[in-house]
Amino acid sequence: MKTISTVKEMLKWRSLTKSRVGFVPTMGALHRGHAELLNQARRNCDSLVLSIFVNPMQFGPKEDLSKYPRTLDLDLVLAQNAGVDVVFFPHPSEIYLEGFSTHVEETILSQPLCGKFRPGHFQGVTTVVLKLFNIVQPHVAYFGLKDAQQFFVIKKMAQDLNLNISIEGVATVRESDGLAMSSRNVYLSPGDRKKAPEIFQSLSRAKLALTSGAAILSILESEKVFLSKIGFDIQYYDLLTLPNLSPVTSTSLSSGTSYILAIAAILGTTRLIDNVIIEA
Ligand code: AMP
Repeated sequence: MKTISTVKEMLKWRSLTKSRVGFVPTMGALHRGHAELLNQARRNCDSLVLSIFVNPMQFGPKEDLSKYPRTLDLDLVLAQNAGVDVVFFPHPSEIYLEGFSTHVEETILSQPLCGKFRPGHFQGVTTVVLKLFNIVQPHVAYFGLKDAQQFFVIKKMAQDLNLNISIEGVATVRESDGLAMSSRNVYLSPGDRKKAPEIFQSLSRAKLALTSGAAILSILESEKVFLSKIGFDIQYYDLLTLPNLSPVTSTSLSSGTSYILAIAAILGTTRLIDNVIIEA
């Protein structure tokens, strides 16, 4: 496995690699969720590139950039075990040269859900992902559906900008109690860690009720009240239609429509997100 930290060296490796290149962009602190992306890429590609880059541009001024977990040595072991060929691990100054002034913005799918609570976040994501795509030039790139909005925004960017890259979504990998794996779960206190699986339990309960014909507004409201009472500070708990993340106008699910039920909630000081997809 090769570790590359400069754009120049990455471009050189790419120019010598003619095979089908798979790419998994991450911010490191790797866990089994990331490993699943790597495994899928490994099975479907000849060469596998993993990037580890904590992208300053996608963090708001009051967010956790400086304390974001960094575990490079362990990440390299996980990468090696997953059969990664190249780990691209650039310094921020390598990605954002002095005077950097160009941004990429998807303007529709990035508005609801996290877009409302993290201004500038998706612009930071699309900008860095397009840069990484230009540096790695993959045939296929893998993204987790745990960050479903990010997946749909990137897919839309690829379509709108005619990127010749297939964007694949990978199902959320969960702990045995249902909590979606996340690098940020290490911030949870032991008490909050015990409580955190309530999010997925709530989503699963709501999904069952909605597919059984329950009224959307009352289910969303009762689940919000329940989670608030047990200590979650809910930013959003929304049902949107896929793939455009549009608002739902009907009072209950319409058959033949795909939906995403998504939540963001703060527990202690940790912001947790999760979602389930519902095919009605
Ligand atoms: P991150 O390092 O958190 O930016 O995540 C890098 C990639 O891994 C993104 O495409 C995430 O959606 C994906 N990912 C993170 N956690 C999970 C998970 N629990 N299951 C599946 N994919 C995940």
